[in-house]
Amino acid sequence: MPEALHEALQYQKQDEGAVQCSLCNHRCVIKKGGHGICGVRHNREGTLYAMTYAKISAEAVDPVEKKPLFHYLPGTLSYSLGSIGCNFHCQHCQNWHISRAALEDGHLRDLAPEEGVNRAIAGGSASISWTYNEPTIWHEYALDMGTCAKKTGLGTIYVTNGYITEEALKELSPMLGAFRVDLKAFSDDFYKKICGARLQPVLDSAALAKSLGMHVETVTLVIPGLNDGMDEMESLIRWVIDHLGADTPMHFSRFHPDYRMTDRGATPVATLEKIYKKAQELGLRFPYLGNVYNHQYENTYCPVCGAMLIERQGFSIRYRNLDGQQCKKCGEKIEIVHDAS
Ligand code: SF4
Repeated sequence: MPEALHEALQYQKQDEGAVQCSLCNHRCVIKKGGHGICGVRHNREGTLYAMTYAKISAEAVDPVEKKPLFHYLPGTLSYSLGSIGCNFHCQHCQNWHISRAALEDGHLRDLAPEEGVNRAIAGGSASISWTYNEPTIWHEYALDMGTCAKKTGLGTIYVTNGYITEEALKELSPMLGAFRVDLKAFSDDFYKKICGARLQPVLDSAALAKSLGMHVETVTLVIPGLNDGMDEMESLIRWVIDHLGADTPMHFSRFHPDYRMTDRGATPVATLEKIYKKAQELGLRFPYLGNVYNHQYENTYCPVCGAMLIERQGFSIRYRNLDGQQCKKCGEKIEIVHDAS
């Protein structure tokens, strides 16, 4: 057995050498020699291994706005890492070259958790993001790096599909600052057909992240003909207001044809604007549009007096009428995390 193999957390042994993984809500039962749906957790002789521990496929320093996160350490850089594999199989995946890559494809190189933290600090980042592919399936590595990062005052960010189990999310909780979760639709049918998953576990994990004290922002990619109905969007927004709070930043992003979904065009900007206005009308305080370059609805406005608080152009920001967590014009408290420590 090579020394480098890293035993997984979050699994239970079963009869005849099988194991059940409890990291995400697929809860795969994996026989000896098999892999889970994500392709990166392997049962070798009755022990489950995290095959991508300390193995990265992508590394970059991104503006945190690119995640997108608008209310967590705005205007700072985030040291961003990705590996391979995914527990979803979205037909419109934009990172399919790594999410669908196999271990033997040669995409991976080594990076120890402590070295990742050192690189984040050396590069001037204020946080570390596990992103590009699904971080849930990178659990042990993110946990080790995040625990180390937290001691230094760095912020910690999951850019996730939210399919993590309750027990795994609770394990991350002491180290994880921000949970940037996709709410891909508000229909179980969409999750089943398009992603190979279910809706309710995603909603449950978003609500749990909030109750554990993490900063939560949601992203919904609005796809023409699939999840762009106003009734569905209204239900989704109402759910967020009721379960995550009216202060939750919700990002509604423009779809562009990709991967296996090239049978429809990009989302009309007018559709996104309609959703933005509906969100405001329902009482959501911080709706945003995404993938619409230099649109006024990318800015942050005071939900009470309408003053522009943060202006955004691409991924750069300029503070306008925001003083810490307060609107300079009317004094309204604005929920924004400026300090992760
Ligand atoms: S992380 Fe999810 S998909 Fe991967 S083995 Fe575990 S339960 Fe299955």
